[in-house]
Amino acid sequence: MSLTRPPAEFAALIAELRAFVDDEIIPCEDLRTAHDGEVVQRTAGALRLRAAARGLGAPRGAPADGGLGLSWEECCAFLEQAGRSFLGPATLQCAPPGQPDIAALERLASPAQRARYLAPLLRGTQRSCFAMTEPAPGAGSDPRMLRTTARRVDGGWVLDGHKWFISGALRADFAIVVARTEAGPSWFLVDKGTPGFEVLRDVPTMEPFDIGGHAEIVLRGCRVGAEALVGEEGQGLEHAQLRLEGARLFHCMRFIGLASRAMEIAQRYATTRESHGARLSEHQMVQAMVADAHIELYAARLMTLDVARRLDAGESIRHHSSMAKVFVSEAVYRVADSAVQICGALGISEDVPVSMILRMLRAFRIYDGASEVHRAAIAKRALRHGLAA
Ligand SMILES: Cc1cc2nc3c(=O)[nH]c(=O)nc-3n(C[C@H](O)[C@H](O)[C@H](O)COP(=O)(O)OP(=O)(O)OC[C@H]3O[C@@H](n4cnc5c(N)ncnc54)[C@H](O)[C@@H]3O)c2cc1C
Repeated sequence: MSLTRPPAEFAALIAELRAFVDDEIIPCEDLRTAHDGEVVQRTAGALRLRAAARGLGAPRGAPADGGLGLSWEECCAFLEQAGRSFLGPATLQCAPPGQPDIAALERLASPAQRARYLAPLLRGTQRSCFAMTEPAPGAGSDPRMLRTTARRVDGGWVLDGHKWFISGALRADFAIVVARTEAGPSWFLVDKGTPGFEVLRDVPTMEPFDIGGHAEIVLRGCRVGAEALVGEEGQGLEHAQLRLEGARLFHCMRFIGLASRAMEIAQRYATTRESHGARLSEHQMVQAMVADAHIELYAARLMTLDVARRLDAGESIRHHSSMAKVFVSEAVYRVADSAVQICGALGISEDVPVSMILRMLRAFRIYDGASEVHRAAIAKRALRHGLAA
């Protein structure tokens, strides 16, 4: 177990967070403006001040920066509560892309990069985005197909390429761009406004409550200094793996909270609505959906907790985080789908948030590695190393 504070103190923190989410964050969710990033950002910004007044801050942030300095294990409970609302992670500065970018820069940034890029991210005064995915024939599920290039020139690098689905890019102050040098894929910090770095458009998606869009970007002769290189040249895919492992875990934690909320709504409906002479909650096929949701979320929580403990212990989580990501991303979607089914037509409407929760959860089976790609990697490792199941 990895705990940064006594259990009673931690339980009080989680109770305070739950009350804050229920009493202050959820009432601010307006499903009609779920696709208006401006409104979502303004709302989350106002809520952040209210969170700080209640002693609630970024779970992994350092206390000196207003964060809570929680362990990964403690984050499981914190993120589950924060994740019950669409607005919770953005309010509590634990939403992607900022949170995984912070985690990666903490391990990879030089002292100068820490001062210029990491410190404002930690203070919440700047935003980042992470630009790796490219349209065909560039890198998607297969990062080895990376086509964006970084050419060494006198005093720096010149970047050329095409990226898309870059979350948060519309509002980012800088991007971490993955580009190929002679040594292989590498990371570069590119400031917004650098000549040759152009955000073409926001790619419209089914994802609600998103701040900063999922943008398409072109880099044309984009010149950055030698100090823009992050970590080791040629190690960009290893760096990306490191960034994604923590990111996946945070998604698992917060989406367990969102799926759990969908089922809470469905259970309330089932206990009040009648059909064929009985409450829905008295029909065994409805009961089976409720029971399966509880079983799936119980398993999802335990897998996530196990990976979090391994991360706290400094173990490699590559294999376990893949297994957890596949299971949790598919389980939370099944739970939300059952919640829609139990709620009937109401579940399809936007009078309750269950259909929006379903939409929010769908993309998790694709980003941070599609289920099929993780399954292929898990099987390859198991077969190559003769791992026991
Ligand atoms: C909401 C959202 C946010 C995102 N944010 C970011 C971001 O901030 N930064 C960023 O760089 N990228 C981001 N992405 C992109 C994401 O990382 C990619 O979508 C993902 O890597 C898959 O790449 P692709 O979409 O090109 O799918 P493709 O590579 O075209 O694959 C399509 C499908 O083919 C199947 N498939 C692919 N390879 C295999 C295989 N080896 N075996 C079996 N089946 C396979 C899978 O079912 C997969 O879903 C985001 C995507 C979404 C949807």
